[in-house]
Amino acid sequence: MTATTDVDVLIVGSGFSGLGVAIRLKQEGFTDFAILERADDVGGTWQANTYPGCACDVPSHLYSFSFAPNPAWSQTYSRQPEIWEYLRDTARRYDVLRHVRFGHTVTSAEWDEETARWKVETGQGSFTARVFIPATGPLAEPKQPEVPGLDSFEGKIYHSARWDHDHDLTGERVASIGTGASAIQYVPMIQPDVAKLHVFQRTAPWIMPHSNRRVTGVERRAYRAFPALQRLVRGLVYAGREILVLGFVKRPGLMKQVEKVARWHMRSQISDPELIRKATPDYTIGCKRILPSNHWYPALERPNVELVTDAITEVRPHSVVTADGSEREVDTIILGTGFSVTDMPVARQVRGRGGKLIVDSWGGSPRAHLGLAMPGFPNMFMMLGPNTGLGHTSMVYMIESQVNYVIDALRKMRDDGVDTVEVKRDTVRAYNDRLDEMHEGTVWTTGCKSWYLDDTGRNSTIWPDWTFRFRHRTQSFDSSKYDLRTTPAPDSGKVAA
Ligand SMILES: Cc1cc2nc3c(=O)[nH]c(=O)nc-3n(C[C@H](O)[C@H](O)[C@H](O)COP(=O)(O)OP(=O)(O)OC[C@H]3O[C@@H](n4cnc5c(N)ncnc54)[C@H](O)[C@@H]3O)c2cc1C
Repeated sequence: MTATTDVDVLIVGSGFSGLGVAIRLKQEGFTDFAILERADDVGGTWQANTYPGCACDVPSHLYSFSFAPNPAWSQTYSRQPEIWEYLRDTARRYDVLRHVRFGHTVTSAEWDEETARWKVETGQGSFTARVFIPATGPLAEPKQPEVPGLDSFEGKIYHSARWDHDHDLTGERVASIGTGASAIQYVPMIQPDVAKLHVFQRTAPWIMPHSNRRVTGVERRAYRAFPALQRLVRGLVYAGREILVLGFVKRPGLMKQVEKVARWHMRSQISDPELIRKATPDYTIGCKRILPSNHWYPALERPNVELVTDAITEVRPHSVVTADGSEREVDTIILGTGFSVTDMPVARQVRGRGGKLIVDSWGGSPRAHLGLAMPGFPNMFMMLGPNTGLGHTSMVYMIESQVNYVIDALRKMRDDGVDTVEVKRDTVRAYNDRLDEMHEGTVWTTGCKSWYLDDTGRNSTIWPDWTFRFRHRTQSFDSSKYDLRTTPAPDSGKVAA
């Protein structure tokens, strides 16, 4: 039998969220913590997604920790290797690497009523902890398309988040399934090498011009010499992005202007009317994620690329068959099919009071307080849980907001001698009722099918307001919305509430 390791705080995942929590824990004097990470390095999204062309689509000055600015970004929108290196370097500099247990996949976690601790199982041993922080990522679990016969394919097949760099695509016939954020980045990169590229599209994405450019040496030196300058640029980027909330949430009619730019972009890059027809979305811009690219449309128009809009009905050992009966022979299938967002595995692995799984407590639609806390799950703070997603700006802003809240909760628990905190059911109900009201009339309810909506059709993914309001609400731990318990002293026999 393997020994059980006990820690005060147990984090799962070492992406922006897990590292962000760990760094702040350390700074606040909480040193008894561990991070369980299934991969063999830190970085999360940026460790896992290594596909050609992988980059952030929010400017790097904003898509980075506010407390760890990087004056050396080489481009305004950095590529994956640079973001991954930034995260590894930040973990090193803030000395949290020694807390990470690599190669530890969490298989289950359960709240133990008797000991008031979380019991967490991994393939490599058991852990117990007072506080449990799943930071397993909303976009970490590759989604497999439900296509009959996919398993029967005898060529090479892989998901964009598990890119096989040992497999040479040169001269191959390739099927790429999906036209989301990842596909629009890798398709233009592989197009010059492959013999034939069939791009299978279910829904056309809205594409905006990309403003990426190299950061000059002068700028980099200026950021080093005057850190306030970089903070100013970060602030300006934040403000520029936040304006989009007006169109997304407050007045969706404004999105018509954004749509005009996207239509102009398409027409200026595609000359074939039939391709324009196929590439034109049939829903309001912003309803699904808007994607920036200057290379997507030109790639689609290359002679070796075919945009297929007929639904895939079957995959055979060497081909892909579509609804019109066409069969295309391919050597490799790349799944650019995104991630399981509203059905993340953690919800089926974590059990709270009475052994109830998160997924059962959600009853079909994820709900939490501030995307963090759920009734029945004491001392658990889930990073980037329900309704923390964004369509317009940096997720790191939401992560840092949640980190503030979690750290304040732990501080208050420590200072007030509180052992367990559990959000009240009424709090979660009222909070989510308000979110649902706020979602009414937003661009996400204009009728498109997107991964923002769960199986019930509810938007349980997006934060439907200004992000500074989320920052404000997470500034401090609102203990009145929680049941607080202290362990009775051995002789008192009472439970303080
Ligand atoms: C290709 C891509 C591009 C993106 N670009 C942007 C962008 O430009 N701007 C933006 O704001 N957001 C972007 N995102 C969203 C991005 O996921 C978040 O910004 C952020 O990186 C999430 O960080 P995280 O730490 O919460 O999750 P992740 O980075 O996903 O980290 C989760 C970690 O948990 C680990 N883990 C999961 N399950 C287990 C388990 N059972 N046991 C142990 N470890 C586990 C994973 O291995 C991973 O390391 C992008 C996402 C993708 C996939």
